Amino acid sequence: MEENRIRENQMAEQIAGPDELYFNEEHGMLRQTVKDFVTKEINAHLDEWEAKGESPLHDLFKKMGDLGLLGIRYDEAYGGQGLDYWYELVFLEELAHIEGLGLPVAIAVQTHMATPAIAEFGSDYLKQTYLRPALAGDMVTSIAVTEPGAGSDVSALATTAKRDGDTYVINGSKTFITNGTQADFLTLLARTSEKPGYHSFSLFVVPTDLPGFEVSKKLDKLGMRSSDTAELFFDDLRIPVENLIGEEGEGFIYQMRQFQHERYSVLPSAYITTMDMINMTVDYLRQRIVFGKPLIKQQVLRHRLAEWLTEIECIKQFTYHIVRMKSAGLDATREITMGKLKAARLFQEIAQGCLQMYGGMGFMNETLISRYYRDSRVFSVGGGADEVMCEVIGKLEGF
Ligand SMILES: Cc1cc2nc3c(=O)[nH]c(=O)nc-3n(C[C@H](O)[C@H](O)[C@H](O)COP(=O)(O)OP(=O)(O)OC[C@H]3O[C@@H](n4cnc5c(N)ncnc54)[C@H](O)[C@@H]3O)c2cc1C
Repeated sequence: MEENRIRENQMAEQIAGPDELYFNEEHGMLRQTVKDFVTKEINAHLDEWEAKGESPLHDLFKKMGDLGLLGIRYDEAYGGQGLDYWYELVFLEELAHIEGLGLPVAIAVQTHMATPAIAEFGSDYLKQTYLRPALAGDMVTSIAVTEPGAGSDVSALATTAKRDGDTYVINGSKTFITNGTQADFLTLLARTSEKPGYHSFSLFVVPTDLPGFEVSKKLDKLGMRSSDTAELFFDDLRIPVENLIGEEGEGFIYQMRQFQHERYSVLPSAYITTMDMINMTVDYLRQRIVFGKPLIKQQVLRHRLAEWLTEIECIKQFTYHIVRMKSAGLDATREITMGKLKAARLFQEIAQGCLQMYGGMGFMNETLISRYYRDSRVFSVGGGADEVMCEVIGKLEGF
């Protein structure tokens, strides 16, 4: 007993705060690098890019690639950093300080949505030709799954890839594709068999400089305005058979695994971006005088803030639990799905609640909270709608 108490006291002396239970000095250095990048290279230009409806991804990703930020967990053999899940979390946490969701999502497409399957199942050729330049920031990528007739039900997709000699011929269309107007290659899910079932789909790397590819429309969105989103069209586009990722007929399974990275990448927004929203709102409430006193003196508002802080702490600790599970090699599909569902809802609740506390100022475009409010809707739809998350959880629970 006494020994345990002494050990606990010694531990308490060594660490300055709870985050030091998880992060060391080297994590701190990466954190500072990403923080500086976000402040100087992203937040400083975001108003301009939001107004323009897109960001200069080639320029931005090249700078990130030079700093080694696009391949934190990827294999060093292909230009990655070969670091662990905690470094990846540091990266995602700092990205969440970007003042709006457009850029964090555009970057996560490059790091967590379009490249994991190439790294996990792709050939050495695909890794050298596409993964390496993506990690270096020399190529911009998109993930192309959704179609006009297939979103939540991925298995309804109709884009075909038909084998013809040494090529696959791609016909069809994709929609809502993030980075779609700028992408150099797509990680694309297509139907390779007419048979029913999940083994009728394959995942491909599709370069966008080939005949038969067209950006048919740049889409106009409610939020995430600094990120470009496109509708894409494929008309007899021929790609070499080498561009098949892994085995034919396994693409659906690969994509379901790839979705885990995408959904996980959302989680830090729910405890970092929301804290940014709360901090700015508290500053406003301290200085805004209503009925003769600062709004922060209203107990009902303070309680609301306290409840959000409690939920934020829960989702943060849940995320850290997921990192521990991933680090131990455990399958965290159930937890990631629950986390994505909760993160999406909490983000929206806090964005809308903070806007309310700002009153009329919250409705003005000059107030940052209005951007977060517009952007917040995306998480309950993109990467799998809330209802789809519930379906997955239900299935995993056996009901
Ligand atoms: C800004 C943005 C960026 C995106 N980026 C990409 C991208 O880069 N690549 C890509 O491939 N896709 C992308 N998407 C597409 C996104 O993944 C889909 O929008 C999403 O999966 C939902 O599909 P859907 O829009 O076809 O909605 P639908 O499938 O038509 O569903 C409509 C609604 O029905 C409800 N619903 C669905 N299924 C069920 C159910 N089983 N039970 C009850 N209710 C249900 C949900 O509320 C859902 O929102 C993006 C979407 C947005 C908005």
